[in-house]
Amino acid sequence: MTYRKELSKINTYKPGKPIEEVKRSLKLEEVYKLASNEIPFPPLYLRKAIGEELKNISRYPESNSFYLRRALSKKIGAREDQIIFGNGSDELITLTLKALISKGDEVVVAYPTFLIYEIQAKIAGANVVRVPLKNLRYSLEEIVKKVNKKTKIIFIANPDNPTGTYLNAKEIKDFLAKIPKRVLVFFDEAYFEFAPKDFPSTLKFLKKGYNIMVIRTFSKVYGLAGLRIGYGVATRRLAGILNKIREPFNINRFAQVAALAALKNKGFLRKVISHVKGEKKYLYKELKKCNLLFTESATNFILVNFQRDVSRLCDYLLKQGIIVRGLKGWGLKNFFRVTIGLSCENKKFIECLNNYLRKKD
Ligand code: PMP
Repeated sequence: MTYRKELSKINTYKPGKPIEEVKRSLKLEEVYKLASNEIPFPPLYLRKAIGEELKNISRYPESNSFYLRRALSKKIGAREDQIIFGNGSDELITLTLKALISKGDEVVVAYPTFLIYEIQAKIAGANVVRVPLKNLRYSLEEIVKKVNKKTKIIFIANPDNPTGTYLNAKEIKDFLAKIPKRVLVFFDEAYFEFAPKDFPSTLKFLKKGYNIMVIRTFSKVYGLAGLRIGYGVATRRLAGILNKIREPFNINRFAQVAALAALKNKGFLRKVISHVKGEKKYLYKELKKCNLLFTESATNFILVNFQRDVSRLCDYLLKQGIIVRGLKGWGLKNFFRVTIGLSCENKKFIECLNNYLRKKD
């Protein structure tokens, strides 16, 4: 049997190590995961909604996520037929590529940024054009220069992962004015709830007729990473095509009821956002005391420049039961990314970091 040749050149995405795996392999009782930008407390208020849905588990879910779609449409002010749900917002990246890419088309991505764009674009048969970050920020000027007749999609993670930097409303407005309408600008706003006030209202640009698509997720601020649900908002035409090519039951029953209940609970969101803000301040202060360079973050994680290879540090922290993300795979071998955890987790991280810097380095 032969496989598609181009697949051999594609790297497999390596997620942050799961807590269960680290406990098993290192025989640790307590493990703190600060590696995958999840929020540290589970939304236990969803127990009731999820529990009640159990009686329906033997039946397929509604294919169109009817109640969730209606509620989300009201909340964000988009038409119901402009919304597409995905098994995680990841799936919407894959579906969009599947809908638009023919062999030889070009996709523009920053480098480094969220790696899924590049991996999935290559799987879809696209040629990937990388535009290096400038001072750890997207360089929109350079991205504009890379657009040509073959360009189909430009991926923009805003705020960005793994840097935590963001592009403000003015930058996005000026950028969109320079992009031809045949090119889809794909805004990935997985972390937008954490971003500052001058963050762009991309949905307004969609209303004005720009050729854009916006994806967001229930995995981060809503705390539903384990359920896998995200959404996209696009023109009715693109949303219709994505709906056609998705799997009919991509959003399971529990994800539908949990996301619906989560949309209604503003208190939980406020709690998460305020926790992240407070703990970020604490971590900034402690990282400064350690004389480490870091990037001011518009998200729930911080990019730290360790200024030397981070492999030994990451191994050391892992043995202490703390999982952070070394960024060698992103081409940033001196950097790691740490997700804001519970106060006790952040303190333990800082304590272990200090121990490492004192004794081992
Ligand atoms: N986009 C970005 C920028 C992310 O960081 C992530 C998750 N790490 C995702 C998309 C995917 O999130 P999910 O599939 O859980 O919605």
